[in-house]
Amino acid sequence: MSGKCSFCGNTDFRSAQVQYVDRRDGSMLIVNGVPCEECTYCGERYYEAVVLKKIEREFEAIRSGKRRPRKEVTVPIDDYSRLVG
Ligand SMILES: [Zn+2]
Repeated sequence: MSGKCSFCGNTDFRSAQVQYVDRRDGSMLIVNGVPCEECTYCGERYYEAVVLKKIEREFEAIRSGKRRPRKEVTVPIDDYSRLVG
């Protein structure tokens, strides 16, 4: 990536493959190995529009039942006010 980080102003980036978490209407999709450029100073990640579009399409396909993800996990969710101890 050329240019500078819009958060910290740093101009140094490195290519990385990261875990991307997308949320929509209470649903969540986790995609591993997503290519991005990462700011070497603050870690802010920048994705190409085509990459985000591909994830968005996949998310819609999974939500509508046209595609099945490689794997699904159950995630426990609770409220802080309910916690004991
Ligand atoms: Zn930065």
